[in-house]
Amino acid sequence: MKENIVTPQRMGEDEVFDVQLRPQSLDEFIGQEKLKERLSIFIEAARGRDEGLDHVLLYGPPGLGKTTLANIIAREMRANINSTSGPVIEKPIDLSAILSHLQKGDILFLDEVHRLNYTVEEILYPAMEEYKLDIMIGKGPGARSIKLDLPRYTLIGATTRAGLLTPPLRARFGIVIRLGYYNTEEMERIVKRSAEILQIKIDNEGALEIARRSRGTPRIANRLLRRVRDYAQVRADNIILQEVANKALRMLEVDEHGLDDMDKMILSTIVKKFNGGPVGVNSLSVAVGEEADTIKEVYEPYLIQEGYLDRTSSGRRATKKAYECLNLPYKQ
Ligand code: ADP
Repeated sequence: MKENIVTPQRMGEDEVFDVQLRPQSLDEFIGQEKLKERLSIFIEAARGRDEGLDHVLLYGPPGLGKTTLANIIAREMRANINSTSGPVIEKPIDLSAILSHLQKGDILFLDEVHRLNYTVEEILYPAMEEYKLDIMIGKGPGARSIKLDLPRYTLIGATTRAGLLTPPLRARFGIVIRLGYYNTEEMERIVKRSAEILQIKIDNEGALEIARRSRGTPRIANRLLRRVRDYAQVRADNIILQEVANKALRMLEVDEHGLDDMDKMILSTIVKKFNGGPVGVNSLSVAVGEEADTIKEVYEPYLIQEGYLDRTSSGRRATKKAYECLNLPYKQ
């Protein structure tokens, strides 16, 4: 498989580790069992017919494995992958250039697909549906439009904000896959797998400690693992035992429930400003200074899954667990 990164990007330390730790096959990809089964059927069927895969939309909060899955799909389809991202494609011509270089069977991975601007998105409609590219030749009165045939390629779009996708774009994806948060057992397996690749010694309890505090998100687990490794190297004979993980994470001020600053802000706002709720997402959004869609798609699912929030018909309500986590007495 050839991997072209169309987006010029300097990689930070986190991204370098992301690439190193990225599972290479569906078998290596931990958790998300239903999704893997569906995907493997689609892939096998497409390969059996010697056709490309339908366009795929992957959505879910950041760090759950969308980029990883796009690369796995390419590998399992034995296809080349070209990667770019919505905000990088500024003009229709940028997208036309990328599309016109695709070969039969290629995969185009388009991250942050909700951030494409509308004029660019319009190019995508015929390019996805009819494999046609509309190109304007010349300028002014002499300008004319020609249609180019594109080879059968597969677009894999990824987004953290499926709610922001326009309906016509969303409708053009034949396969729509949602990634949810990982449970603690899956997170523990992810931590152990990453530790093995990075040759870090860790015991079950040490892995569990990191897993519990990673907000159900593999990328966070990998980041914490590396920080805990530094601590273990300097203070604890290079082995991550529970006690070591605990001390290191406390030193790093990582929340013991795995919540990040915005999670805590949302909970404390509901409790302190709205008396525990119920509060509508729009009022909450103004109070915490975060977009309502981001609250709905990125923060709330985790808080609800972990039992800190209830979504009722009259709005969001903080649970007893939320009060406990904020060290406040519970009021019903
Ligand atoms: P996204 O594109 O959704 O933001 P990535 O695909 O970049 O997330 O995943 C972030 C990192 O988390 C990857 O580098 C990989 O190491 C790890 N990861 C994600 N999903 C899994 C998984 N199911 N099993 C093991 N590691 C995973």
